[in-house]
Formats: sequence, C-alpha cells, structure tokens
Amino acid sequence: MTNIVSHFINGAPVDGTSGRLGDVYNPATGRNSAKVPLATAAEVDRAVAAARAAFPAWSAATPLRRARVMFAFKQLLEQNADRLASLITAEHGKVHSDALGEVTRGLEVVEFACGGPHLLKGEVAENVGTRVDSHSLRQPLGVVAGITPFNFPAMVPLWMFPVALACGNCFILKPSERVPSAALFMADLLTQAGLPDGVFNVVHGDKVAVDALLSHPDVKAVSFVGSTPIAQYIYATGAANGKRVQALGGAKNHMVIMPDADLDQAVDALMGAAYGSAGERCMAISVAVPVTEAVADALVERLAERVRALKIGPGTDPSAEMGPLVTRQHRDKVRGYIDLGIEEGAKLVVDGRRVEIADPECGDGYFLGGTLFDHVTPEMRIYREEIFGPVLAVVRVPDYRTAVDLINAHEFGNGTAIFTRDGDTARAFGAEIEVGMVGVNVPIPVPMAFHSFGGWKRSLFGDHHMHGPEGVRFYTRLKTITSRWPTGIRSGADFVMPTMK
Ligand code: NAD
Repeated sequence: MTNIVSHFINGAPVDGTSGRLGDVYNPATGRNSAKVPLATAAEVDRAVAAARAAFPAWSAATPLRRARVMFAFKQLLEQNADRLASLITAEHGKVHSDALGEVTRGLEVVEFACGGPHLLKGEVAENVGTRVDSHSLRQPLGVVAGITPFNFPAMVPLWMFPVALACGNCFILKPSERVPSAALFMADLLTQAGLPDGVFNVVHGDKVAVDALLSHPDVKAVSFVGSTPIAQYIYATGAANGKRVQALGGAKNHMVIMPDADLDQAVDALMGAAYGSAGERCMAISVAVPVTEAVADALVERLAERVRALKIGPGTDPSAEMGPLVTRQHRDKVRGYIDLGIEEGAKLVVDGRRVEIADPECGDGYFLGGTLFDHVTPEMRIYREEIFGPVLAVVRVPDYRTAVDLINAHEFGNGTAIFTRDGDTARAFGAEIEVGMVGVNVPIPVPMAFHSFGGWKRSLFGDHHMHGPEGVRFYTRLKTITSRWPTGIRSGADFVMPTMK
C-alpha cells in the first residue's frame, strides 16, 4: 500500500483533498516511497485560518512560556535526533552522520530561541525631553510562512520557525515536496512539547500552494530558501503583496588556496566541502582557486587521488562518505553539466559519470561519482552556473588580486573561504570580498545559530539574514512608545512641530 503523507493543520494530521499527488523517492534505491499531497489554495487558506485563530493567545503568552515550549521541543529533538536523521536519509539520500549533523545545526537555533525573553527586550531612554521617556518594543507580525528547499529537510525549517514562534508568531511551513516527512515529524514533536494547536502548521505543495501563501492577506511575512530564480520570484511577488520577505537563493562558492597555505589541510577541507552531501549544499565549495600554477599542479594531483577514492554508497551505510543525489532528474542534470564541461574545453581529471555501487539494492539509485575539472575558465557555464552536485571546478589564477576580482565578479555571493597562513592576506580578503559568509581556513563558514546566515548579491533577496539577531528583527515589528505623565505636561496647545526642551 502506498504511504500518503498528510498535511498538519491546527494540531492534527489532515489528508490532502486536491487529488494532486507528488512522488517521494528513496534516492538510494530509486524506489517510490510515498505520495505527497499538493495543496490547493483552499487548503492553504485553512492552515492560515488556523494560524490566525491561534495568534491572539500565542502572542499574548509570556515570552517565558513560549521559551519553555522551545526548551521541551529541544529535549524532544535531542531524544529523536536519530529517527529524524533516518527520515532525512530515506528521502534526501545524504549519509546518516551528515543528516545527524544537520539536525544538530538546526537544534542550535532552537537553543537560541530558548532565549526569547532576553531577545525580545527593547530599549529604554529616560528623559528624552523633560520628564518624557521612550521605550521600544519588538512585537510579533502575526501569521508568517516558510518555504524550504530539499537539501536540508530539517535544518532550513529550523532556521526559521523556532525564532518565529519564540517571538510570538504563528507559522505555516511549506516544505520541499521531495522531502516532506521531516517537517511532519517536527510538527508532532512541537505538539508533544506543548505548542498550542494552530501555532505551527505544515502544508505540502508546489507552486499552487506557494502562490496561495504569497497572495494571502493574512500572511504577513515569508521566509524562503531555494534556487535563485524562485527566490527572486518570491521576493518580488511577496513584496508586491505588501509582505516582509527574506529569500535566500543559490550559490557558487569559491575557496582560494594561497601559496603559503598548508596544502594537506586545504585538500582535506576541499574534499569535505565539495563532496559532502554530494555537493547538494548551498555552502558547498564548487570552485577551487589555487594561486599560482605550482599550487594548482600540486593541488590537482592530490585532489584527484582523493576524489577517485571517495566511498560512495547508500546513506544508511556507515562507511559511505557520499550518498546519491536527490532525484533521477537532478542526477541527470548534474551529469549533463559534466558533458558540458568537456564540450566547453575544461580538463576532466576525474569522471564521476560511471559509478559502481556494491549494494545490490542500489542498482537504480541516483548515484554519481565525485568529479573534478581543471583549467575551468570564467566564461564556461560550468563555472557560471550552480551545478549543485559533486563536481569541483579548478580555476587557476596567478595572484591574490585576480582571485578576489574573480569572486567579486560572480553573480552569487553566498559563502567563500581563503586558505593562508598570512594574517594580512586573510584580513584584506575579509574586507574586500563581496560575499556574505567568509571563512579563513574554514571551508564552510556557516554562522552559528546566535549569528545570522545569509549571502550577498543574487544569493539573497531582502534585508534580513536568517536566525540569530537578524531572525528576531525579521519576525518582529518595532514599536516606540513615548510617554509623559501629568506633572511633565506643559499647559497650552502647541501648533509647531514639537521639539524637546
Ligand atoms: P527550489 O527553488 O526548486 O525549491 C525551493 C522551494 O520552492 C520548494 O519548497 C519548492 O516547492 C518551491 N518552488 C519550486 N518551484 C517553484 C515555483 N515555480 N513557484 C513557487 N515555488 C516554487 O530549490 P531546491 O531544488 O529545493 O533546493 C536547491 C536550491 O536551494 C539550490 O539552488 C541551493 O543553492 C538553494 N539553497 C540555498 C540556501 C541558502 O541559504 N542560500 C540553502 C539551501 C539551499
């Protein structure tokens, strides 16, 4: 019998009624594991109505009470991390240890949100005028929505909803239809943690559900993570409908290897950053930029050996370093980029197109081997476009300045890294580079939960990064109250612009 995933509305699982269903696959075996309902605008409206009804009580609950729900949720997430990671591996394909890592990075945002009472404290100024005081408040927006990508089924939703809920908002999550189960699992944990019905809802779907959220008058803000064309669409449409929007898009992350870098460390870093999670990470390094020909020759030689030795297998195999790609179509698209790179004249050093998986269950899985291109140039499409797979391009540059100019000219600006032993070079890089998240000898510089995550240029549309202090700003409205009491009020009417005396 086919497993049909449900929506989660007003504290309970709800069957889809649209008659439209999407397919969910186990990428390691290629088998269809479930069907996911694709919501209609009316189903989205039902979830928004439940959230709207829950908002007055939830926003009026003390921040401390809300934080206590987060504490309980944190404990449940910890207890169930392994189960959640298994759900992620079954639908996304990434190896179990990596799925557990994603759960931990998401859990850290819950820990941050447990500090809600502190985070919501405003500012006070005494005597802004004679006997006049001012204080500011941060108040929740109302119903807010999160639309998330396939590549982090737990972590990316967790970038959003713990902060939104701790601030007193109600939330509608529209997860990627390719990986729907993690969202439902977390909805159940939130209920167990004591979250009132309607405060958190999950609606599955595609463009129809997304458009319904973008045009719904009761949705006050939209957080989005996904590819750049969709991010731009979400930003433009949401803003045109008067919503606050943060829309994080795609990436092409470069790692510069200076001649003074420890090459062994740089190679280790590149292996994990380029091929971990089969390159399906928005912070994956997809371009290595060795500075000088000598560094490039040595780097490519060492990398090639390591890429050929990558252990590829199902995510459930504890010895696997890299699992399959998410869908057959995506695997074929990435394979197409490898064909394209050859046509464009890049040198294919390691070809991942033919890969043997020992496990007999995995014959139809969406596997691809690690791939390495050398002599890639900035005009090539394999350089310009996001491939989102286990394909690393090496672009050789003669000096530091050319490396910086190369990165700054790229349309994306999500993450980047420099490997060097020189403090001055590292410092200059941090100052000059037009990228939102920068690593110095750290290949994947994902900010911790108490900082904020976000790129520059076409990697982010909107003003606020995600989670951390920026998340609190995004999910709250600032109100400033200026007050005085009868002894501070002067007599007579003032017809001129009031100025403080
Ligand atoms: P995607 O853009 O295809 O989908 C993201 C979400 O948008 C999904 O929920 C999907 O249902 C919805 N969607 C898809 N097409 C739509 C349309 N036409 N109209 C409205 N909604 C639509 O992205 P994906 O393939 O799931 O995820 C991979 C992408 O996400 C990559 O580009 C990656 O770089 C990016 N990503 C970015 C970050 C970041 O922080 N910047 C993090 C993770 C992933």
